[in-house]
Amino acid sequence: MQLLLMGPPGAGKGTQAAELVKKYSIPQISTGDMFRAAVKEGTELGKKAKACMDAGTLVPDEVTVGIVRERLAKDDCKKGFMLDGFPRTVEQADALAKILDELGIKLTKVLNIHVPAEDLIERAVGRRICKSCGATYHIKFNPTKVEGKCDNCGGELYQRADDNADTMKTRLETYENSTRPLIEYYQKAGIYAEIDGRQPINKVTEDLISVLSSVKD
Ligand code: ADP
Ligand code: AMP
Repeated sequence: MQLLLMGPPGAGKGTQAAELVKKYSIPQISTGDMFRAAVKEGTELGKKAKACMDAGTLVPDEVTVGIVRERLAKDDCKKGFMLDGFPRTVEQADALAKILDELGIKLTKVLNIHVPAEDLIERAVGRRICKSCGATYHIKFNPTKVEGKCDNCGGELYQRADDNADTMKTRLETYENSTRPLIEYYQKAGIYAEIDGRQPINKVTEDLISVLSSVKD
């Protein structure tokens, strides 16, 4: 299955991708995670991405499309994949269509997790991530059993630098202006499904699985 998980920042893409990639044994391809890893390693890519990430704007399309093209060419993507946070512009979506065409594959389904804007700042500001295994929590909606320690591995939790109310405002504007048009783009392609992301995490997972159970690979 070649899947694309869409939704505004904080909608629950990473949380749901973690469940779905286990269930379908496909790799998760999160451009946000790739950029954060590059920033941490201090690579050229990280240097290019950091200012945009800190500001809440998008990393330029040519940089983003380049890393996705490289990633999709890897062997583990032959059995399918789940894109998370890419594409985020119509230009990226057109570039993705071209890459997939070259690889001779098609997107199976685009899953949009719908959460209204008023919920998203609270979700992002309360998000905590494990430094060791990358698991995502929320101080109110999905807390760890022991404060500050990951349930999976006991690792320490951190807060993303861009998960503050100011940067979130810009990220939400960026979403409205650049990413929302992709809803119509994929509706027209006939592969679009919308899931109510305001439900509890496990219910959102169930709805996603239910949509995918009626999809032919
Ligand atoms: P995204 O990858 O779309 O930016 P995340 O999966 O990181 O979003 O989720 C953002 C925050 O919201 C996290 O702290 C996560 O624990 C929390 N969250 C995810 N899904 C839900 C949900 N259905 N209800 C409440 N909080 C959620
Ligand atoms: P995310 O982890 O998906 O919330 O992304 C964090 C930040 O990484 C975004 O605010 C952007 O600055 C950058 N980013 C992630 N994915 C993309 C993309 N597809 N295109 C451009 N910038 C991106």
